[in-house]
Amino acid sequence: MKGTFPIDKFAKMQTPFYYYDTDLLRETLRTINAEAGKHPNFVVHYAIKANANPKVLNVICQAGLGADCVSGGEIQRCVETGFPASKIVYAGVGKSDWEINLGLDRDIFCFNVESIPELEVINELAGKKDKVARVCFRINPDVGAHTHANITTGLAENKFGIAMRDMESVISEAEQMAHVKFIGLHFHIGSQILDMGDFEALCNRINQLQDQLEQHHIKVENINVGGGLGIDYNHPNRVPIPDFKSYFDTFAHHLKLREGQKLHFELGRSVVGQMGSLITRCLYVKQGTAKQFAIVDAGMTDLIRPALYQAYHKIENLTSDEPVETYDVVGPICESSDVFAKAIDLNKTHRGDLIALRSAGAYGEIMASQYNCRPLPKGFITEEL
Ligand SMILES: *Cc1c(COP(=O)(O)O)cnc(C)c1O
Repeated sequence: MKGTFPIDKFAKMQTPFYYYDTDLLRETLRTINAEAGKHPNFVVHYAIKANANPKVLNVICQAGLGADCVSGGEIQRCVETGFPASKIVYAGVGKSDWEINLGLDRDIFCFNVESIPELEVINELAGKKDKVARVCFRINPDVGAHTHANITTGLAENKFGIAMRDMESVISEAEQMAHVKFIGLHFHIGSQILDMGDFEALCNRINQLQDQLEQHHIKVENINVGGGLGIDYNHPNRVPIPDFKSYFDTFAHHLKLREGQKLHFELGRSVVGQMGSLITRCLYVKQGTAKQFAIVDAGMTDLIRPALYQAYHKIENLTSDEPVETYDVVGPICESSDVFAKAIDLNKTHRGDLIALRSAGAYGEIMASQYNCRPLPKGFITEEL
């Protein structure tokens, strides 16, 4: 089964480009709001880093989600889009002074702080402005997610977050500071997580930590469990919307929230992954000795995930119904890792055929580069075609 695309419109367009199916995006956002909305204390933020295309952000902002930023540039983009500052959270191990100042000037909801030196700088910069910065501490819960090693972030020895054993001393340190206010705990265990058991393990760990804090009479207003829910890269047509019901229910069942506590989520990939495809044209079909190559006009500069993480993207020939043959699908970049897929089945492919790389809405366009002096790919939403 192939996806449905406005192929007649694509036919006139310069490739490669990203196509964003805003009907699917809106349906995904409705599902998120419906499932999270069953729990009045759940607050959902969108992780901007997955896709910061202004037209996509606009749709997400209109659905009422908050924003999770990891840089000053992202805070800027959010503010321009219209996300209210009161719904912006800001994480990152290396926040520079201008980025912290921007967050203070905009009066964002919260800084997710990852170390004591960072806390000291935020306190100092907020002091100069005579402000009080709201802070959450990113705690490293030492929970491993069953995902690619490059995208696991919650294990003990990791650049992200503060170790659990330091949690109480960091909180009491913050309580001594005049220009920061401790408002909660933040966690993020990794990405592309499909096993709800990983999130259950996170819940159990948070329950332990909360018991511990309660013994020290430390009050926590907000718990933020980060993002990480995965998508089905193998079946973008059969599973276009991730299982948000199981996801939110896992937290509702396993996390013991205290009276009045808010539970925040920061979803990236699961919001935008399936609605995006990279559309490319076949330039040449080249016969090798033992295989054939479909050489396309998109490369690792447009979509780096296969080269960077050996990620799989389903590939469809949108303009051929001829019997399938086996191809290596490769890009034009001068790097041997510029390969989208090896030995995959595609309908018999010819020069000029339109090819879709599916499930490319997250960590696609935003990671594009100009290596080889290539122009950056453009992104189009359904309404623009
Ligand atoms: C990347 C990131 C997210 C989003 O991750 P997804 O896997 O795309 O949902 C959320 N929170 C933080 C702190 C992140 O770094």
